[in-house]
Amino acid sequence: MFHKTRKKLSLLYATLFFLFFSFFLIIFYFALVNLMNTQQLDELESHYEKQKYDFYAYMHEQQRLSYDPDQNYFYYIYTKDHNFVHGDETYKGMQQQLEQFYSHSPISENSSVHFEWQEHYFLLLKKPIYEKHNVAGYIILGKSITLQKHFFQKTIQLLILLTCISTILIGLLSYYMARKAMVPIQWSFDKQKKFVSDASHELRTPLSIFYSSLEILELEEAHTLSPFSKELVHDMKDEAQLMEALLEKLLFLARHDQQQWAQHQEVIPLSDLLKKIAIKFQKIMPAEIQFVTEIEENIEFFGDITKIQELLYILLDNAKLYTKKGPISLSLIKESNAIKMTVTDNGIGIPEHDLPLIFDRFYRGDVARQRNGTGLGLALAKAIVEQHSGKIIVSSADSKGASFQVIFPI
Ligand code: ATP
Ligand code: MG
Repeated sequence: MFHKTRKKLSLLYATLFFLFFSFFLIIFYFALVNLMNTQQLDELESHYEKQKYDFYAYMHEQQRLSYDPDQNYFYYIYTKDHNFVHGDETYKGMQQQLEQFYSHSPISENSSVHFEWQEHYFLLLKKPIYEKHNVAGYIILGKSITLQKHFFQKTIQLLILLTCISTILIGLLSYYMARKAMVPIQWSFDKQKKFVSDASHELRTPLSIFYSSLEILELEEAHTLSPFSKELVHDMKDEAQLMEALLEKLLFLARHDQQQWAQHQEVIPLSDLLKKIAIKFQKIMPAEIQFVTEIEENIEFFGDITKIQELLYILLDNAKLYTKKGPISLSLIKESNAIKMTVTDNGIGIPEHDLPLIFDRFYRGDVARQRNGTGLGLALAKAIVEQHSGKIIVSSADSKGASFQVIFPI
């Protein structure tokens, strides 16, 4: 139980940390990218400012495209009507590629764009060229940002790796811390379980003395007791019996919690056992209920026969109690890796909000509370199923009956 809580807590911490860390990393990354872009753009702008008069002069030179791989910047000068005039490039053949690029997505004046070509990345800036305050043409000024781009790709990979590693570390650390934090809770929980177990155990003897005394009183004083006193003694015996049953259930659950149950495991002829129980229940079912069985032959199971019997009593008893009329069915089938026992009724059904709670101790549905009962039946059933390494599944469509399926792995 605490193991599950520890796991859940660690998972929650790790997820929260992951989300928190990822959020900051994303912000950090975008801030860094933005900073780099601004810096590169500033460099392009100042290069333009320094050389804008030269660019104007170049417009009238007839020398066309030159290639110099060693320079930092490159530029292409165009006339107002998009005719190429002059250029200085560092990546041979890029000018044609660029023309294709901005024929698809034109660059507006004074704005910058990113351009990728042959695994190289560039920042491009478009600026007007003035001739006596009139625009005579424009220039596309560019700079390679491949190095920075690679640096950021590596950075992001590293950050993702760091996030993953630190999330795992945080998960492990919180698992360890959760264990530390659970020590006092576990201690008081164990104490409480021991208290319930001891109290149930200690109450058993006085209760059985009380019951036997009532029986003796009923027998020996049969002639002297008034009819009213006889009724009282009878009621007290009933209550004492109920209390004894309740104590037995509590003791069983307490032992289950402390994992101290004694199992008398043997090979159970499950098909025969179910048939016998079905005959018993057939007799006590009201006439309005049709009890049908579908029991596969010759199924055997290794377990504690009295517990399995009790489990079936609990499920069938509930089905009978919460069904006014209609069919109740009991089925047993064997699959390749599991034995499945199902009790289905056509009774009042279980509201959806009750479904996760009905296996809790002392939990009773609204309708059930009008009847006698302890609310321990299904808690006991679940404990028995768990002791046999199985699981119990409930399904119910509101007001259309309930179905309890017990699955035992083979
Ligand atoms: P007892 O401990 O005496 O059996 P109980 O029947 O109220 O009392 P559980 O058997 O643990 O307690 O069942 C818990 C609750 O689940 C019930 O109070 C009832 O609301 C609901 N429930 C169980 N089985 C059915 C069923 N077959 N149909 C409808 N509701 C059911
Ligand atoms: Mg019950």
